[in-house]
Amino acid sequence: MILQLKSSVSDQEVATFHEKAGWFVVSRGQDKFLVLGSQVRSIPPELDGKVSEQWDFDTDIQLASRDFIAETKQITFSNGVTIGGDYTRPAIIAGPCSVESREQLEESASFLSSVGIRFLRGGCYKPRTSPYSFRGLGKEGLTLLAEMREKYGMLIVSEVRDATHVEEVIEHVDIIQIGAKTMYDHGVLTASGRSGKPVLLKRGFGTTVQEFVQAAEFMMAEGNEEIILCERGIRTFEKSTRFTLDLCGVEWIKKHVNLPIVLDPSHAMGYSYGVPALTKACIALGVDGLIIEVHPNPSEALSDAKQQLNHEEFSSLLKDCNVSQ
Ligand code: PEP
Ligand code: MN
Repeated sequence: MILQLKSSVSDQEVATFHEKAGWFVVSRGQDKFLVLGSQVRSIPPELDGKVSEQWDFDTDIQLASRDFIAETKQITFSNGVTIGGDYTRPAIIAGPCSVESREQLEESASFLSSVGIRFLRGGCYKPRTSPYSFRGLGKEGLTLLAEMREKYGMLIVSEVRDATHVEEVIEHVDIIQIGAKTMYDHGVLTASGRSGKPVLLKRGFGTTVQEFVQAAEFMMAEGNEEIILCERGIRTFEKSTRFTLDLCGVEWIKKHVNLPIVLDPSHAMGYSYGVPALTKACIALGVDGLIIEVHPNPSEALSDAKQQLNHEEFSSLLKDCNVSQ
């Protein structure tokens, strides 16, 4: 249940609702809202006479529900670039899976900016499936990404692996990426919810759409409205591709959820040969953005080598898809 409070309710009173009852308080401009669980069916007595509007929900997708706010959230960045609400101009977020060296990142950033890409993505804290795999350059990588922002004017996207370095990532990026394996880390969700920065939340590969959107709801309840959802494939019985891109889930999200949805054909497919055709399919479906992994020399990449496009392949994909940025 979401309750809009009358403007006569004082800030002090609102704070006591949060402290005593544990209800979340969300502000939108001058308006204040209390968010209670969807199981609450009637206005609690202590709020008698203090509520101007009420929304009831069947599930805990509340702030993210189109029944609360019908239009898709549009996120505007410092350079005027936007994500959300325009399927005719999906934002392309591209870059190598991992930041590996200054040379590699410089080559990536200079190429991607030359073909009009505004979002440079590279992981510095990689959540890997094996302890013996490359786990990223950490802070050194974040510093390199920040240098590319200065040099090429690109917006930086990089992922958080856990709560130990969440503040460091928040400080360096324009969009905080929360990876599939981190979707349930409540330390990361809380810090990102309070960060004041846009978040790209990837769907855990073993989670339902409901659970996925509820993870976004954790951050929205902390006051962050700028959450971008990312479908990157779920695990099914099918083994011939890395994951299975859940396009039906995407359509469900588009109908019911007011957050932008970005698709990641690279991680879903796991093999570069399928990425261009899947990208076209996603654009035909209508999405707010795409994540595509691009590496100057994919066969030498330190992570996700098989799925990254080289620069030539990425250029022809952009041409084929006609997605000017
Ligand atoms: C990534 O984006 O490089 C990544 C690790 O993806 P995911 O969290 O979707 O597995
Ligand atoms: Mn990757």
